[in-house]
Amino acid sequence: MAIVGGGISGLATAYYLSKRGAPFTLIEKRAHLGGVIRTLNLQGCLVEAGPDSYISVKPWARDLINELGLGGEVIGSKDDERVTFIWKAGRLIPMPDGLQFMIPTEIGPMISTPLLGFGSKLQMAIEYFRKPPTEPLPDRSVAEFVRSHFGQEVVDYLAEPLLSGIYGGDPEHLSVNAVLPRMVELETKYGSLSKGTLDARQNAVRQPPDRTPLFSTLRNGLGSLVDSLLDSVAETIEGVRGEVEAIERAGDRYRLRVNDDWIEADHVVLACEAHAAARMLNAGSQPFDPELAGLLDSIPYSSSMTLALAFDGKDLASIPQGFGFLVPKRERQQLVACTFVGNKFPFRESGDLILVRCFLGGAGGEEVVALDDESALQVVLDELREKMDITAKPVFSAVSRWPRSMAQYTVGHQDRVRRIEEKLKQHSGLHLVGNAYYGIGIPDCVRMAKEVAGRVLRS
Ligand SMILES: Cc1cc2nc3c(=O)[nH]c(=O)nc-3n(C[C@H](O)[C@H](O)[C@H](O)COP(=O)(O)OP(=O)(O)OC[C@H]3O[C@@H](n4cnc5c(N)ncnc54)[C@H](O)[C@@H]3O)c2cc1C
Repeated sequence: MAIVGGGISGLATAYYLSKRGAPFTLIEKRAHLGGVIRTLNLQGCLVEAGPDSYISVKPWARDLINELGLGGEVIGSKDDERVTFIWKAGRLIPMPDGLQFMIPTEIGPMISTPLLGFGSKLQMAIEYFRKPPTEPLPDRSVAEFVRSHFGQEVVDYLAEPLLSGIYGGDPEHLSVNAVLPRMVELETKYGSLSKGTLDARQNAVRQPPDRTPLFSTLRNGLGSLVDSLLDSVAETIEGVRGEVEAIERAGDRYRLRVNDDWIEADHVVLACEAHAAARMLNAGSQPFDPELAGLLDSIPYSSSMTLALAFDGKDLASIPQGFGFLVPKRERQQLVACTFVGNKFPFRESGDLILVRCFLGGAGGEEVVALDDESALQVVLDELREKMDITAKPVFSAVSRWPRSMAQYTVGHQDRVRRIEEKLKQHSGLHLVGNAYYGIGIPDCVRMAKEVAGRVLRS
């Protein structure tokens, strides 16, 4: 058995195979395992170079963490400080209370927020009376969907910054069916998203209050999940550092070209990015499956960059009370989002140091990833000066680049994945897992890994 890619998808697949004693080879081209998960310890601060947490409501990451015996290490986001600001017209405006993603559920905060103008507020109120569609609607872009319910300003100042923060994606291209399936369900059943959300909330009132934090992570960072997964598979893993360049059939088995050598396997789990899988399926003079490769390559990816900056607290006036801010595309120079790390999670900062984490890039902003560290730092410092009045020099900074790492579920995504699954049926023993297919976040990657490991073991 061979697993290509040592990110969370590959490592979780390895874990579930290993639990049943199945031996496997894990091939990773980077010097470190974990893929985009990378925790750094810098001057006593815990810096997440990639993801910093997972959404608590999806159980699969939590279940894996508990199985690994790390349950006691889980910490939740400090939700009493959960305010997100949006940069608009030269100031940081808190997102109004009662918003569920971009759906209003409370009248007072919506009326008083300066984030949206009168026209949008009126459209939000009228939306409550919208009727369900008479026939199923085709897949649309998130922007089209949100625009039809709440108007363009809600696309610009809520949908776009929120989706840039989560997906590094552009709502004009992202598929509403793939990215916001629950909202499509509400639209189908109620017509109005506000009415549907309020109804669901009324039903939930009968349940005991849910005190689960919105986001969870590990006290010592997500890197400790990677370490623990590696420890747990130590007995069944053969690790190979190298890039899989090509995949071929060898009778009823497969062979993978790595480091000018060939590795044979009865099952191959491609746990790498879809574009990387496409390259190996389309390599050589007799490519293994150019059609499947073409389908995989048609899943776009965005590139991003994170910059963690630590400032001496004595040099800063104050940090707003909140998790951070988002910059809508309409107002964006380069900075997409900024997290006030110490307000979001405990145990991240050391002494007087104040940590902020900035995101650059995402869909349409890929060229920023090509900036050298110094230029990227200057870009961020200029914008922090403008947006937060920070003029101090950072005590340290850490730049991490994630080229073509975030899959984009654009309109037609589910259909594309269905065609990929159909094609895959022709190659028994070949499996795909990763953030390109059925969910972008860590919990979804773990869920898919468990399903793939189950399929491998059953056959
Ligand atoms: C900056 C950033 C922040 C994020 N924040 C969050 C967050 O807070 N919460 C959340 O839930 N999700 C977050 N995500 C999304 C989530 O982290 C990823 O979707 C998930 O970790 C992807 O895991 P993966 O194993 O599928 O892919 P990856 O982590 O990309 O791993 C794929 C691996 O395959 C290897 N590989 C590729 N080609 C080859 C080859 N030919 N041969 C050998 N190896 C190969 C790569 O080197 C890589 O290590 C974030 C993503 C990014 C980029």
